[in-house]
Amino acid sequence: MPAKAQEKQKLIDKEGKRIDGRNPDELRPIKIEVGVLSNADGSAYIEQGKCKILAGVYGPRETHPKHLALPDRALLQCRYHMAPFSVEERKSPAPSRREIELSKVIREALEPAVFLEYYPRTSIDLFIEVLQADGGTRGAAITMASLALADAGIPMKDLVVACAAGKVEGKLVLDLSDAEDKLGEADLPVAYMPTIDAVTLLQMDGNLTLEEFEQTVNMALNGCKQIYKIQKEALKAKYVALKEVAEE
Ligand code: ADP
Repeated sequence: MPAKAQEKQKLIDKEGKRIDGRNPDELRPIKIEVGVLSNADGSAYIEQGKCKILAGVYGPRETHPKHLALPDRALLQCRYHMAPFSVEERKSPAPSRREIELSKVIREALEPAVFLEYYPRTSIDLFIEVLQADGGTRGAAITMASLALADAGIPMKDLVVACAAGKVEGKLVLDLSDAEDKLGEADLPVAYMPTIDAVTLLQMDGNLTLEEFEQTVNMALNGCKQIYKIQKEALKAKYVALKEVAEE
């Protein structure tokens, strides 16, 4: 869409509905599947609105390159990558600065949940492939990657769940889409371990007043709590399916 037409696009209509028909505090539809790759030790797939993201976990296994191995714990290595066809204009397959940063941010959001000290000198390798992007991919990737780690049988303190909230045309909104992220005033992704009540990531892009900041964080945490239920159901669903196969 030409830049001028985008500027005129209303993101919130007179009834307070967003461009995709959602209410301000409504999540995009979420579908999660666990154990989708048979070659990986653990895997998961998420659809959150138009975002489609897949992850494979390998390990704990020997660290490559060897000199990166840590004497007292496992090394969590994370690669976030967007497929060249994941956005409207072809994205270069080479890792961009944004992808390198997001790989680090996602790793740091997941690390506090994993008992890395159980597996010294090994590596746990997490590969995240964004097949289709439409805003909030870091959050959806964290939610789904923590399930892929659990699916690999890696002991964790809690699942990590993530969600963004932000401000669009003066209104606070949950789970921003790409257009809302780009044209809105602020985007604030949060990652959270609900059982421990601990935040593992908090970023903010844009401007909010202190009061808005607190409201936006609470909105994002509420979103996380809703997604946590879907996350747990997705993990259970894999074992229900396996039980049914075993009983047949
Ligand atoms: P997040 O996906 O976590 O919100 P960003 O705020 O960096 O991360 O990106 C917002 C959105 O911008 C992405 O979800 C994606 O839809 C879009 N985007 C990112 N990189 C590109 C790119 N190279 N080309 C087109 N769109 C992109």
